[in-house]
Amino acid sequence: MTHSFDAIILGGGAAGLMCAIEAGKRGRRVAVLEHSGRMGKKILISGGGRCNFTNLNCGPQNFFSSNPHFAKSALSRYAPADFIALVEKYGIPYHEKTLGQLFCDRSAHDILGMLEAECRHAGVSIFVNTRIQEVQRTTAFVVHTPNEEFRAPALVIATGGLSIPKIGATSFGYDLARQFGLSIREPWPGLTPLILSPEDRSHYCDLAGVSTEVVALCNGQRFREKMLITHRGLSGPAILQISSYWKQPQPILIDLVPGRDVTSVFRDSMTPRNLGTLRAELRKFLPHRIADRWLDLHAPASWTNQSLSDLEKQMHAWALSPAKTEGFEKAEVTAGGVDTDELSAKTMESRKIPGLFFIGEVVDVTGHLGGHNFQWAWASGAAAGRAL
Ligand SMILES: Cc1cc2nc3c(=O)[nH]c(=O)nc-3n(C[C@H](O)[C@H](O)[C@H](O)COP(=O)(O)OP(=O)(O)OC[C@H]3O[C@@H](n4cnc5c(N)ncnc54)[C@H](O)[C@@H]3O)c2cc1C
Repeated sequence: MTHSFDAIILGGGAAGLMCAIEAGKRGRRVAVLEHSGRMGKKILISGGGRCNFTNLNCGPQNFFSSNPHFAKSALSRYAPADFIALVEKYGIPYHEKTLGQLFCDRSAHDILGMLEAECRHAGVSIFVNTRIQEVQRTTAFVVHTPNEEFRAPALVIATGGLSIPKIGATSFGYDLARQFGLSIREPWPGLTPLILSPEDRSHYCDLAGVSTEVVALCNGQRFREKMLITHRGLSGPAILQISSYWKQPQPILIDLVPGRDVTSVFRDSMTPRNLGTLRAELRKFLPHRIADRWLDLHAPASWTNQSLSDLEKQMHAWALSPAKTEGFEKAEVTAGGVDTDELSAKTMESRKIPGLFFIGEVVDVTGHLGGHNFQWAWASGAAAGRAL
């Protein structure tokens, strides 16, 4: 059986649904083909089940890409305020958690329910459990599934990245881009915990569960947020953020005591220069277990001013060389993707293949932690949806 539409969207995640809504509202006959049994599974698990759906401070500075200017146009034409207006129209209760991050008060189901309702109002046809076998381009795009054929003059690829394969991530979008001769920036896992070397693991990982605010630095980037020690290494927002910029075998630097001058106490000549005093001082700024362990492993060579100054520097630039990341199994996002040189920044349409669009995470635009990746999904989806 053959179905004809004005546009076919492959992938019913955040970007695909937003694109379908915008195109449907403009009277386009749109089909969304989703291979799993339900749409928006990643929305449901996002933000610990509460979906950090946008960020009040979202702007181009919160993204990286081989072309840092690419995201600007779409982000400016669909702002956080546009998504918030939709959330408020549906009376969904939400709150700002920290740093402009907006979360649902109740559950991510509210966001998915809202998108599904908008799809219904916009007359979007949804096909779940749809296995895409082949995509051809004749006079139109033809998508073959085992029993049906879908035809449309426009095809939007919204199949996301490689993160979390167990809930349906596939390399489909990259494979299709290659099929049509578009170049790809090699994908890598972003926003992922780091695994420490066996030696560092034996030093620190029995402290799993302990966290502290740090500044994590790598490749000219710095993030001041919480760091969490895990059974295999490090996690927490500061580490997830810096992981997107880390490449093996570089070290990452951790400022364990940002803005503090731990050894200043020794400038008073009456203060005894010994480990007990130093430990007591460091314990003022760090959880006791981290302070004690770190000093056990980094005791000053002597108690001279120079040694103390070296120790102070080390506390603000503790170098760790992670063994690897936790990979796509745990990554919140896939960095890299369809090369932005291939796409129009205004519409997300391929420059080489008219009618072919790429949106969301499959594109080489990656956001920081904190609602930015959803904002990119909404903004790029809206950009394409308005051009269909
Ligand atoms: C655990 C976790 C928590 C997260 N929390 C947040 C958060 O709170 N805030 C935030 O901003 N970002 C968060 N993210 C990132 C965010 O979920 C993604 O960046 C966003 O969902 C990307 O949208 P997308 O539509 O491009 O891709 P997706 O949402 O991944 O959607 C892609 C869709 O395509 C489907 N698909 C894949 N292959 C095929 C195929 N071959 N045929 C048909 N369909 C296919 C998939 O099943 C999926 O439904 C989180 C990610 C994870 C993994």
